[in-house]
Amino acid sequence: MKVSIGIDGADSPRGGCTTHTLYRLFKELVKEGYVERVLDYPYLVRLNPSVPFKTRGNGAVALKFELRKDPGDLVPFVVGVVEKYLREFSGNVDDVGLAIVYGDYDRELSHIYYEALTDYVHRSRIEGLVEGSNGRLALPMGLSRGCVGAIAAIGWSASKFTYELLVYRSSYLTPREALVDLGKLASVDLNPRYRTFCSFDPEVGRVVAIPRGPDPVILGLRGLDPGGLIEALEYLGISKYVEGWIIFKTNQATGEHYVPRASRDMKPFRTGCIAGEVTSVRSVVGGDVELKVDDGFGSLVAYVFKETGLSKVARSLVRGDVVRLCGTVKYWEGVGGVLHVELLEVIDIAELHVKRNPRCPSCGARLKSAGRDKGFKCVKCGYKTKELKPSIQLVGRDISRGFYVPSCGGAKHLTIPRPLVDIDTHVPVQTLVGRISDFY
Ligand SMILES: [Zn+2]
Repeated sequence: MKVSIGIDGADSPRGGCTTHTLYRLFKELVKEGYVERVLDYPYLVRLNPSVPFKTRGNGAVALKFELRKDPGDLVPFVVGVVEKYLREFSGNVDDVGLAIVYGDYDRELSHIYYEALTDYVHRSRIEGLVEGSNGRLALPMGLSRGCVGAIAAIGWSASKFTYELLVYRSSYLTPREALVDLGKLASVDLNPRYRTFCSFDPEVGRVVAIPRGPDPVILGLRGLDPGGLIEALEYLGISKYVEGWIIFKTNQATGEHYVPRASRDMKPFRTGCIAGEVTSVRSVVGGDVELKVDDGFGSLVAYVFKETGLSKVARSLVRGDVVRLCGTVKYWEGVGGVLHVELLEVIDIAELHVKRNPRCPSCGARLKSAGRDKGFKCVKCGYKTKELKPSIQLVGRDISRGFYVPSCGGAKHLTIPRPLVDIDTHVPVQTLVGRISDFY
């Protein structure tokens, strides 16, 4: 029988990581003979980053396999492994979400994935799901907030994905940086054989693959090919203080949360994209840019933050340009919903005209206004005229159509980062299945 296990919220501020819990559980399930056949890579699913009540990293995990033994003792076994993990890493049993789904009922949960990815799912929805499942969905550790993520991870259809290889440490005494050859790590993305991306951000000169904080992950290598990830790991040669590693299939870097919406539906705690005409561009102190966009249904305020690396292109927009803005909507006191932009697409560039004073027919200098209704005068040779009129000139725009996305260092988990966008065509590159760009 097919079994799907989903987990969320197994980390704590003192350590632990939900992916690590799954790594341990997976190993125990195989060791104790529960697994007849694995049905896919384990899933690491990132959910709506704008939901205020979320677990650290907002990542939930799932494992799908064909069960070998009588399923009667599977549930207490899984609960035992998870509880043991929480004891080891001071996690809270009340926060963890554990969901087990039997058979193909996982396919009926894809709407929960999309809602948890793009909107806010109240946990009361989960009660209804359990009741309506005829025992095919079980929450053996009770109904917690983490159950939304656990069920969403099971419901992910994995139609667009990348991979992440996570390496776990066995010792917390040695700093991560001492275990990894940083020179090799800085160059790993440059070898096309590995198909890794965002290990290192050359634009800011920062290692991205080594996390900070107390969790057990030494290194997270992102890539488009599992075989390439293993080769990259061999190249890096981490051997000391390693507990083990695992490859997840993940919705990271896919931009799957960019659902098209009308401006009036871009409510706080939702994610999405709107397309419309720029009505205002304002530079804010500190390097951020405030845009107002009208899509025909209304106006939306959007902020392009300096850290995304998109503020330069945002600043060069003018009234009348047509753009698509994608990201997450946060609630700002006194303002309401504000879109935090992660992807900016320039769809159409408006013609920009400026009024210019005529040149002096006598010496060629640019004439100055002689005052209201007094025509023009030349400050160089003294020529005066009331006949000449200012000319309307078309200004060249220093902006081109296409996708603008953050560099690796400025990209969030779900954001499509710059290495996955073709530099020449400005179109997101091909992933293993389908194009990343078919989100709208
Ligand atoms: Zn002159």
